[in-house]
Amino acid sequence: MTKQTKQFLADLINSISPSGYEAPVAKVWKAEAEKFASKVWTDTHGNSHAIVNPGGSPRVMLAGHYDEIGFQISYIDDKGFLWIQALGGWDPQIAQGQRVQIMTKKGVVRGVIGKVAIHMQTPEQRKKVSEVKDLWVDIGAKDKRAAEKMVEIGDPLVVAYGFEELANGLAVGRAFDDRAGAFVVLEAAKQLAKLSPNAEIHAVATVQEEIGLRGATTAAYGIDPDIGIAVDVTFATDHPNMGDAIKRENLIELGKGPVLTRGPNINSKLFDLLVKTAKTEKIPVQINAEPRGTGTDANAIQLNRAGVVSGLVSIPLRYMHSPCELISLKDLEQCTKLLAKTVAKITPRTNFVPF
Ligand SMILES: [Zn+2]
Repeated sequence: MTKQTKQFLADLINSISPSGYEAPVAKVWKAEAEKFASKVWTDTHGNSHAIVNPGGSPRVMLAGHYDEIGFQISYIDDKGFLWIQALGGWDPQIAQGQRVQIMTKKGVVRGVIGKVAIHMQTPEQRKKVSEVKDLWVDIGAKDKRAAEKMVEIGDPLVVAYGFEELANGLAVGRAFDDRAGAFVVLEAAKQLAKLSPNAEIHAVATVQEEIGLRGATTAAYGIDPDIGIAVDVTFATDHPNMGDAIKRENLIELGKGPVLTRGPNINSKLFDLLVKTAKTEKIPVQINAEPRGTGTDANAIQLNRAGVVSGLVSIPLRYMHSPCELISLKDLEQCTKLLAKTVAKITPRTNFVPF
């Protein structure tokens, strides 16, 4: 990965943009898209689009969501502490004791999610699992009035963790779910621009996936694609304490390549094309099974209008929905290449009717 590409990825991760508040990350994504795409814009829902080879056929949508999980301020008490609601699926045990960044109209306000000290907890409290309703944010304000000068009801916040590289080609940060996917779809479109594809390619960074695939639903309706491939992260199961989950998710390892999903949400011919392309390009892939609609944008895309040929390329990720989501940079490159090379093979005559 070149220095510039890695910087683009880091800038995506470092953008504070939970579901419904994606403006900062949209700016980063579109600035990169402007470098090569024929047309770049943001729709009224907040999805950002980049088109390569306009007028080509068929129309292929590549979707990665650029929102992330976070919280939203719902109440400020008399002492100036902020009470919050979750934007997306949180494990409240992880949120406690974290530094946070609150996105306000006037800029970023820093704070922490507090917790009663271990010494002060009763034996019962120590065993009790916290819920989001028990979490408060401390911004150091002396009372409600002072807090109201700093933040407003509805302001969103995320934990204060940015992009960092680890050993062995791994990287850590919050929001790899799914800035990694938004990164891959744009990088794939960039590669496709040089591969003279037949297809018209719409790379889309979708909003609000974490609260119900909301961006992909409207984006797919607007684009009306023939084929749609979602790129999201999936559970790497190669770490301790996975228990029986491995029987369901299969052994998925970091650095062992893209994960291709099989199941009713995936067009079988598109799946076969992805596998075949991986073989010819010598890209290692891992397979998992999903017997229902996946929890990804691929689900919204498939059910658009009269139905869309849908696929899912996933990036293995450890510790999903935590501040320390762990990913392999090599996997990102392999996913990008697989996506670009597969879409480059699609012509107006490619038949995706499954049977
Ligand atoms: Zn997620």
